[in-house]
Amino acid sequence: MKKSIRKSKYVTVLAAVLVILFMGMFPSAPEEGMYPLSEVGKLDLVKAGLKIDPQELYNPNGTSLIDALVNIGGCTGSFVSEDGLVITNHHCAFGAISRASTPETNFLSDGFVAKDKSEEIPAKGYTVRIMESYKDVSEEILEAVADIEDLAERSREIGKKMRELAEEANDEENSIEARVSEMFLGQTYVLFKYRIIKDVRLVYAPPQSIGNFGGETDNWMWPRHTGDFSFMRAYVAPDGSAAEYSAENIPFKPKKFLKVNPNGVQEGDFTFILGYPGRTYRHLPSQFLEYQQDYHLPYIADLYEWIIEQLEDISADDETLQLEVASYKKGLANTSKNYRGKMLGINRIGLVDKKIAEEEAIAEFINSDDVLKEKYSTLFSDIDSVYSGIFKNAEANLWFGRITRFSTSLNISNFLLTYLEEMKKPNLERKSAYRDENVKKTIGRLNRTFSMYYPDLEERLLFRMLTEALNFEGEVKIEAVNNNFTNEDEIEDFINSVVLDTKLTDKEFILALLEKPIEEIEKFEDPMLTFASELKTQLDALDEESDMADGALSKLSPKLIEVKKAWKKTSFIPDANSTLRLTYGYIKGYSPADATYYSPITTLDGVIDKANQGGEYEIPEQLRELYESKDYGRFVDKKLGSVPVAILYNMDTTGGNSGSPILNANGELIGVNFDRAFEATINDYAWNESYSRSIGVDIRYVLWITQKIGNGGYLLKEMGVEL
Ligand code: ASP
Repeated sequence: MKKSIRKSKYVTVLAAVLVILFMGMFPSAPEEGMYPLSEVGKLDLVKAGLKIDPQELYNPNGTSLIDALVNIGGCTGSFVSEDGLVITNHHCAFGAISRASTPETNFLSDGFVAKDKSEEIPAKGYTVRIMESYKDVSEEILEAVADIEDLAERSREIGKKMRELAEEANDEENSIEARVSEMFLGQTYVLFKYRIIKDVRLVYAPPQSIGNFGGETDNWMWPRHTGDFSFMRAYVAPDGSAAEYSAENIPFKPKKFLKVNPNGVQEGDFTFILGYPGRTYRHLPSQFLEYQQDYHLPYIADLYEWIIEQLEDISADDETLQLEVASYKKGLANTSKNYRGKMLGINRIGLVDKKIAEEEAIAEFINSDDVLKEKYSTLFSDIDSVYSGIFKNAEANLWFGRITRFSTSLNISNFLLTYLEEMKKPNLERKSAYRDENVKKTIGRLNRTFSMYYPDLEERLLFRMLTEALNFEGEVKIEAVNNNFTNEDEIEDFINSVVLDTKLTDKEFILALLEKPIEEIEKFEDPMLTFASELKTQLDALDEESDMADGALSKLSPKLIEVKKAWKKTSFIPDANSTLRLTYGYIKGYSPADATYYSPITTLDGVIDKANQGGEYEIPEQLRELYESKDYGRFVDKKLGSVPVAILYNMDTTGGNSGSPILNANGELIGVNFDRAFEATINDYAWNESYSRSIGVDIRYVLWITQKIGNGGYLLKEMGVEL
């Protein structure tokens, strides 16, 4: 913790304490609204506006809307027909669309439509997961670590126990994959069982001038006009089991599929979302926010923007390469703009100070009661000392994290070094990924690393990051870099002579090497591997410190939640962690700035207005013609006089909720969630009714585009939509 910052902000903090205390006297807005299934029964959804029996929404003993939900490629999707048709976002299918494209048949720019099932194409690398059941396993996990004093070991053991329980529950024969998810850090753990589907196919994707309309200019922005949707289909073997792509496979029959309501919604309507929100950090201490603000966010945003520039540069004259790197670039751009939004937002609303103020108020609460004092008096100073270690290593950890991720030669080196270490141990003592039963899969994952290898990028990235490390000003230096280089010229020489020459980036060579016995692999020599092993010594030491910090926080965090609950006189729901959640709210505009109000539904008229500006607002000619002839069919909104395109609402979402179905009071599909407003990028840290707004594509636009641009009338029929 930076004491000097803290003191200088004393007055602001005091004011914020008063505001928080004052606010605490009134019932607050539905904060932290991503409810795990275990909490859904406690909500009064009918009072909020739900018009169906809540059991139809979620019923652990029968079929409910939950059964129509899928996790698809890290996003959410939902079944919309009895034949396994899934609706999700265009940006969620982006990888599949770009991988299936060539400069001659470019499905990204032209869109893709299968006229019937036989024309659907494999969505390479995609799987579908459907949640089957869940069970609290907190006791088993916490019991396993009850006697462990060493903090790093405690943290590792928690992870190990989570993996063990999941492995025990895996049931490949019945296509069941299990996972244990940490709900409250160090406190609650749930084992989820998922049905896995491995044959996923692309059915319809609009051209990206619709599906990604507005590109990065409009990403994370409202008003929005993006038709961010696509259709995919899940297939299984004829006996119903999960199988890789095969022509014999048949469409999966889901237990439940969503009813599509082609009439859409109106401002003020009650809506809810089911989905797999990725990660939020609302229960973490103020130091976590300081870490984000001072280190993580700026470092990542700068680096990713730089990598995007390099990718654009190296692919400028090569259309095939442009397609190859499209998805990679999009992911980086999405994160960096999100992080810029977060930095701005944290600053604008003084989020760190607010959190500090809250902690000061809790500290006072503790000090006012002897029993509390006895239990929690050192809580905040303990957290502070853990974070001082985290701050000290921040620069080095960020550097190591990114260089081993983005440099293929270092990534493969690290893998080889760990492989050699682990494979010498008896099977049960190895890290789970290296056990006999898992190691093939682990090696298979290297394909992804090799597929991200572009020699020009590797060269530029290593030069940038090694030079950066040489100039580190903090307490922790990168020893191997300082030991090997004294200036940029030496780094350049190293890259020219070693990196460009290494066998470590040669996929065939490495995969063949891994087929050999350990003694043979050990004989493999490469100067890059030697350098990587020097780096790894420090990386291992830093990892040990991180494990210790995690172990300490896993003990302190439950205490923080406990005392916060007592102070707020309320209970909390856990942060998002990629498990199935429900959020509800209303179609609602907002005021992002003084004297500005944004209403919550955009229309085709706005698409055309933007298209007239050019730039990233290109549209297919056919869309303009449809607009000019007002060929809207049943999808026109009478009040708006146009086809609605995107909707805005105060439901609580985050990354991973992309593709989530937006449902009306009757549980019918009226849109697909795909983004948040710029101000709402900070709701990962703190939700607030005034700025937390998410964005979805209106079902009327989805259906209209599918019918008119995609000639996909048969899909509307499959979904039971009458024209
Ligand atoms: N568009 C977002 C994403 O790609 C979804 C969100 O975070 O709200 O992660």
